[in-house]
Amino acid sequence: MNRPIKPIGSAIMAIAALASPALTINAQENMDSHYATWPVYDGNDLELRVDGNGTHFTVWSPEAKAATVYIYDSDRNTPAVDSLTMTRGDRGTWRATAPGQLYGKFYTFAITDGRGRRLAETPGVWAKAVGTNGHRAAIIDLAGTDPEGWSEDRGPELKSINDAVIYEMHHRDFSVHPSSGIVHKGKFLALTEEQTRSLAGDKTGIEHLKELGVTHVHILPSYDYNSVDESNLLSNQYNWGYDPYNYNAPEGSYSTDPANPAARITEMKKMVQALHRAGIGVVMDVVYNHTADNDGSNFSLTAPGYYYRHRQDGSYSDASGCGNETASERRQMSDFIVNSVKYWAKEYHIDGFRFDLMAIHDIETMNRVADELKKINPSIFVYGEGWTAGDSPLPADRRALKENVAKMDGIAVFSDDIRDAIKGHYSNAADRGFATGKPGNEETVKIGIVASTAHPQVDYSKGNNSKFAYASAPTQIINYVSCHDDLTLTDKLAASMPGSSEADRQRAARLAQTIVFTSQGTPFMFAGEELFRDKKGVHNSYKSPDSINAIDWSLKNKNREQFDYYRELIRLRREHPAFRLRTADEIARHLVFDKIESPNIISYSLKDNAGGDSWKEIKLVFNGSDAPFAARIPKGEWTVIARDGKIDADGLDSVKGGTTMVAPTSALILARTK
Ligand code: CA
Repeated sequence: MNRPIKPIGSAIMAIAALASPALTINAQENMDSHYATWPVYDGNDLELRVDGNGTHFTVWSPEAKAATVYIYDSDRNTPAVDSLTMTRGDRGTWRATAPGQLYGKFYTFAITDGRGRRLAETPGVWAKAVGTNGHRAAIIDLAGTDPEGWSEDRGPELKSINDAVIYEMHHRDFSVHPSSGIVHKGKFLALTEEQTRSLAGDKTGIEHLKELGVTHVHILPSYDYNSVDESNLLSNQYNWGYDPYNYNAPEGSYSTDPANPAARITEMKKMVQALHRAGIGVVMDVVYNHTADNDGSNFSLTAPGYYYRHRQDGSYSDASGCGNETASERRQMSDFIVNSVKYWAKEYHIDGFRFDLMAIHDIETMNRVADELKKINPSIFVYGEGWTAGDSPLPADRRALKENVAKMDGIAVFSDDIRDAIKGHYSNAADRGFATGKPGNEETVKIGIVASTAHPQVDYSKGNNSKFAYASAPTQIINYVSCHDDLTLTDKLAASMPGSSEADRQRAARLAQTIVFTSQGTPFMFAGEELFRDKKGVHNSYKSPDSINAIDWSLKNKNREQFDYYRELIRLRREHPAFRLRTADEIARHLVFDKIESPNIISYSLKDNAGGDSWKEIKLVFNGSDAPFAARIPKGEWTVIARDGKIDADGLDSVKGGTTMVAPTSALILARTK
């Protein structure tokens, strides 16, 4: 999904924009061949290195006429205390060395471009530590940022991405509400606080995550982004963070002291460490597909033009819907993405990456990302949005689209197929789906159930979105019914079920998530949905206030049954490998649909101890209609796992088979061991 973000440019950026008008090279092909002649620098010493011989600066800017480094005593509002004229180095670099180790100082680069224009100062593209609002890079010793015990820190081991249960959250949503009982509201440190409780005494924060049973937390963008003014945090600004500024340093507003470059780094590491101690992995949302600003971005201020795609007329092309798109097919940009995720994996022990608008990137770069990360840690996984938000000069056959995922072994894509088929189309609030009584979505839900792999009983020509089995394995599919984008499930149900009671809508949410969490592929949920949180009907809340976005933890007491259902559903999935089959072939052999002609009914079995499951057969019947459905269950000793809006992974009851009623808007799950 995309957000029509209009980034807020800083004063520095505004000046830069004036100083650097659009490029004059016209056709994209001409630009590609032009940039292909630029030397690529793959040294690991970009842009700062400190050793016994001094402090070394290296910036990549092949067409520059000159380059300068400015040294500062503080992170803002002070004049430079020194400047170093850089000299041309190898492979497009410019270099300078200052005597001594300048720890505690800040620096910027100033480039004179190929046409002799002096560009605004920039912290560069590889700043690993920055001060307030990220305008100056900081010289610190990264080893000094490690919390105690960091060298022993390990994320959870994962045999397959399909074993993950992903929980997508924004730092501020999760902890800022007064009911959270958390001290460090909206900060990285919120996730390090133990024994936090709501006023009603319910577990919140990291204790809540443990209780719910999710395996991975997916944090919305947590690198330094542009929109929140870090010098004025008391004004309670909010942004999702899809407006990247410094890709390799944490966001300052999530730290307790944005002016101290080490604080944000240490505090983010403490967050990762606390989650790892709780057995939970950390997935980072990464947005390499565009930058907050165009001519004023750090890319444009170091190597103007190179890092972006352009239209025929030389203007920025805009597949992101946010004003520009990056050019991953160019080697230095591809390397930047690969080296940046490697850096986060190694320095911050990140366990997974979610690529925003991944189809803006080329397939080759995404395969490099997956391969290089697996070399660091085989448990790391990668998934992304297999679409763009607008047209791109990159040919469709090179884009990391969901339809091309079969060419990307180690990558998963979000299934918009199952998302829209279950609840109704995302862009039409009133539209309903399978779980809310609209017929015609059955085949698309089945496409989701088999993780978009080829299955003899699924007719892809009837799919709403995709018309062919685009995944070659269930490891390539993320199933979900809502995320930070668009209406929350709670709001979607309210908009599409006029006249319904809250109890009706909670039943629909349970059915919707039961389909997601029992489907092949990897389940993903939006934080707070287990409490039936809403966003007051706001579908694009990227800069809405806390009153819209914050999770009200008093809901946990009010909607306890909803929470208990989600927790038990997650336990069911984690205890039973039948829901986590590894290959398309296993799914085709063990997952058998029953022939049902009734609208809004899907019935299938996972047979023959699928995936080595202790259960010989699992029968699932989903009734998305408003009438009871008489399911014909084979005779046998069946344990009732879920029925009529209730669930217990150990069993609620037992039945002998025969005709079994499935209540409206509910799931029936039965299991037998012989
Ligand atoms: Ca920032």
